[in-house]
Amino acid sequence: MIYLKTDEEIELMRESNLLVARTLAEVGKIVKPGVTTLELDKVAEEFIRSNDAIPSFLGYGGFPNSICTSVNDQVVHGIPSDKELKEGDIVSVDCGVLKNGFHGDSCYTFCVGEVSSEIMSLLKTTKESLYKGIEAAKVGGRLGDIGYAVQSYCEAKGYSVVREFVGHGIGHDMHEDPMVPNYGRRGNGVLLKDGMVIAIEPMINLGKKDVYLQPDGWTAVTADHKYAAHYEHTVAIRKGKTDILSSFEYVEQVLGNKAI
Ligand code: MG
Ligand code: MG
Repeated sequence: MIYLKTDEEIELMRESNLLVARTLAEVGKIVKPGVTTLELDKVAEEFIRSNDAIPSFLGYGGFPNSICTSVNDQVVHGIPSDKELKEGDIVSVDCGVLKNGFHGDSCYTFCVGEVSSEIMSLLKTTKESLYKGIEAAKVGGRLGDIGYAVQSYCEAKGYSVVREFVGHGIGHDMHEDPMVPNYGRRGNGVLLKDGMVIAIEPMINLGKKDVYLQPDGWTAVTADHKYAAHYEHTVAIRKGKTDILSSFEYVEQVLGNKAI
């Protein structure tokens, strides 16, 4: 069942998503060699709670922390740990909050110090593909248009698209219908309607598309151990315009010329 949102509900969802955006900026302030992902988690949780919201991920299906931190070959759902980040690493920080009864959800992949140009290209392409997907998310279009836009853009540059994890509808529940794959065929799938709110989140691999789950039951890792990137926005599909409810503006203000 797809729940269409009213204008009032979309404004509440914007509040949740802007809090996610500001949380990612707080995390971005301390991403550097020597910091642990548990320290990033602590900053995120405290910031979310100090803004009268609840971390959506904490306890979700038993997830132990407030953010997912996926380092290097970890694709998604990495569990924060006491291992220090080091120069040249990348870390995707996926964050969700529940505020006023609605969830926000967004993810940004950060560089730790200087990363190689090969990895920087992967990050740039993945982030650009997110905006290609958003451009395709128009009233009257189809879900497959979004996946096609992401997939064709990334594959043309030699990268591969993860199949096992996808974007999703979002609202009172963090994961609602429909599923939003990052691959697909144009003109295929669910009709996009005014009032749909979806999280679009390309997970793109430098090498092959295959991933496997680590024994912790959460962390997805690339099978070839090449790096993976992940960017996510929550988007409202409205007549006239596609409205990005989350934002990278805050995080990129913090990063300055180190923004992806
Ligand atoms: Mg997310
Ligand atoms: Mg999501």
